[in-house]
Amino acid sequence: MMSRPGGNHMFEFEQGPIRPPSEAKSLLIRATRNCPWNRCEFCHTYKGQKFHIRSVDEIKEDITRARDIADEIRELSWRNGCGGEVNDEVIRAIFASSSPYGESYRSVASWLYLGGTQVFIQDANSLQMKNDDLVETLTFLKEKFPQINRITSYARSKTLAKKTVDELKALRRAGLSRIHVGLETGYDPLLEYIQKGVTAKEHIKAGRNVVKSGISLCEYVMPGLGGKKWTREHAIETARVLNQIDPNYIRLRSLYVRSDMVLYQKVQAGEMKLLGDDEVVHEIGLFVENLNGIRSYLVSDHILNLLKEIEGQFPQDKEKILAVVDRYISLPPEERLIFKVGRRAGLYRRLDDLQDRETRLKVEEAIRRIGEQGTGNVEETIKSIMANYI
Ligand code: SF4
Repeated sequence: MMSRPGGNHMFEFEQGPIRPPSEAKSLLIRATRNCPWNRCEFCHTYKGQKFHIRSVDEIKEDITRARDIADEIRELSWRNGCGGEVNDEVIRAIFASSSPYGESYRSVASWLYLGGTQVFIQDANSLQMKNDDLVETLTFLKEKFPQINRITSYARSKTLAKKTVDELKALRRAGLSRIHVGLETGYDPLLEYIQKGVTAKEHIKAGRNVVKSGISLCEYVMPGLGGKKWTREHAIETARVLNQIDPNYIRLRSLYVRSDMVLYQKVQAGEMKLLGDDEVVHEIGLFVENLNGIRSYLVSDHILNLLKEIEGQFPQDKEKILAVVDRYISLPPEERLIFKVGRRAGLYRRLDDLQDRETRLKVEEAIRRIGEQGTGNVEETIKSIMANYI
């Protein structure tokens, strides 16, 4: 068994609540707190929290602590005969229930275990910092961790549209390699309805600024956001906007309305009618059909998305992606139900999984039990399972 290390275990640094799904291997460094806009009606993450730009000194102090922790973890590894490597044994020692190490140690240890080369700058819009301050922060980060080869951040289109391409290029040179933007939709009436605080034109300007700067751009689209009323406009106009940006990545993250979101009131009042899973798949099909002239990579990796296998490189994989949509829509209703329950229960990942007899028996049993429990409404039960995902 690995012995406990000496040294100071009291080091902690600040980390915010969320990161994009694709940043699971990233160390989280908090440059700003919360969201300066905080009004999107489908978003609950920072509600009631005030936006705050941390001073460069404060962020540098956190980065220095992360470095000190990383050094101490490597020492721990050496002391225990693991040669400085952060391997299973080191991870077990740090995550043991009796371990004296706190959250920050665990974060840095996991990060090193997973490669230790990627960083995500939190929270929702750190590009709101003065450009020079962010450049200084990124430069310091790379000095402290020379092995870092990818630094990413969220940013609002409103902010990016105001940045010059030269400012963004300065960030790229300082190490910022990817920006994640919540585009959500390209349909102006819907952007206004959900209070995104940005227009389709600003989305395009922002996206093009990033593309021109050479920073990789990932745009998030929210299937289902337009409800029944605007499903068609949402699909077509979002594709139109993305066709003009041609981002490196387009990521789908389906709408899920929680009771603590402003949008929930509109749903409760019957003002907004939500789409069912099958209608969302139809909408995605229309969206994909309308994506033209781009070289983006489309990903559907969010846990809320039904069809994870909607993925591929444009333009060559467009037909393949549409074939996935068609395949799902062409299934008989009872097969679609089995897939939905299996996927939401974490038993299915792909449509081919429907052929797995053993798993299918489990899903059929789950549907039978839901029926017996009296709610009788499998779709509602699926929704309650999804609530655990966000
Ligand atoms: S800009 Fe992003 S973080 Fe801020 S409220 Fe909107 S979705 Fe939430």
